[in-house]
Amino acid sequence: MDRIFLSPPHMSGKEQQYIAEVFESNYIAPLGAFVNRFEESIKAYTKVPYALALSSATAGLHLALRVLGIGAGDYVLTSSFTFIGSVSPILYQHANAIFIDSDESWNISPKLLKEAIVKAPKKPKALIITHLYGQVCKLDEIITICKEEGIYLIEDAAESLGATYHGKQSGTFGDMAVYSFNGNKILTTSGGGMLVSKNEEWIEKAKFLSTQAKEDYLHYEHKEFGYNYRMSNVLAAIGVAQMEVLESRVSRRREIFERYQKNLSQIDEIEFMPEIQNSRGSRWLMTLTFSKTNPQKIIELLEKENIESRPLWKPMHMQPLFKDAMVVENGQSEKYFTQGICLPSGSSMSNDTVDYICSILKAAL
Ligand SMILES: *Cc1c(COP(=O)(O)O)cnc(C)c1O
Repeated sequence: MDRIFLSPPHMSGKEQQYIAEVFESNYIAPLGAFVNRFEESIKAYTKVPYALALSSATAGLHLALRVLGIGAGDYVLTSSFTFIGSVSPILYQHANAIFIDSDESWNISPKLLKEAIVKAPKKPKALIITHLYGQVCKLDEIITICKEEGIYLIEDAAESLGATYHGKQSGTFGDMAVYSFNGNKILTTSGGGMLVSKNEEWIEKAKFLSTQAKEDYLHYEHKEFGYNYRMSNVLAAIGVAQMEVLESRVSRRREIFERYQKNLSQIDEIEFMPEIQNSRGSRWLMTLTFSKTNPQKIIELLEKENIESRPLWKPMHMQPLFKDAMVVENGQSEKYFTQGICLPSGSSMSNDTVDYICSILKAAL
């Protein structure tokens, strides 16, 4: 049997046609009509006013920090339970991360966030939150805290494209936000990201920095340094084709999650990632925790059947890289990490495959 991956690319079928158009126009690189179209499609879908297509979401977060003026010696609050791409841009800017643990929603705890602000050695300038595995954070509480404290809010919506809170798209609540089109995300351009904001000036500045900070002269004039972070027209063509099927991709992921839930509901020791009130998650990965069984055993068992599964993200405050960083913790994300597992959830997966994986789990537990 073919290997069952966690979240493989799922093409719409239109990608090659659009790539052919790119080749016919010879706008292979760097920019071209599809980059604009891709940005327009994100704006139309999420209702965010400004968007910038980039080589990755990590690049987008780096630009967001730079545009907001976060630099050496500054403090940035951030979720501990996340992927490294959320937080390495803090290091690129020589700033200090303050890690905040999760609550029962798996996402950043607003209560610990307040505590972290009080305990910080210096007033933090920004907060990066991750909508983990596609579930939106408790945005009402988080936005209130950021407004009261005068802290910029940056949303890492890499995993939550298509997720909503009070009917509004994730990535449209903060000062700036990023979506990812990496290979295993809800949609993919093989690699890519999008930086979005309500603030036109910030997106214009980010665009300038993403294309080597070249001043507006015919010759190459530079007053500051930038990066080579812009997305190519070829990849944007894939993105345009992918955006056409976003809605169906999210609803399929949600169906898969529900099917797992129904199939495994009899197993007492399993707890699924919850979904907070007034929200609709993207259910990017199928995630659950075991109260008794060691997830490592299940991962090995599935591997024997050629099925990919993985532990949940290892919290940043447990990483050797951040052994000296400040953390406000309650043990919650560590518990998720030691007891949890991600199971295959790609939108191209069949119901039979879900049932097959569940039957292996049921036999083992
Ligand atoms: C994938 C991911 C990123 C990084 O996205 P890239 O486009 O690969 O840079 C950042 N944060 C989270 C939470 C992610 O899952």
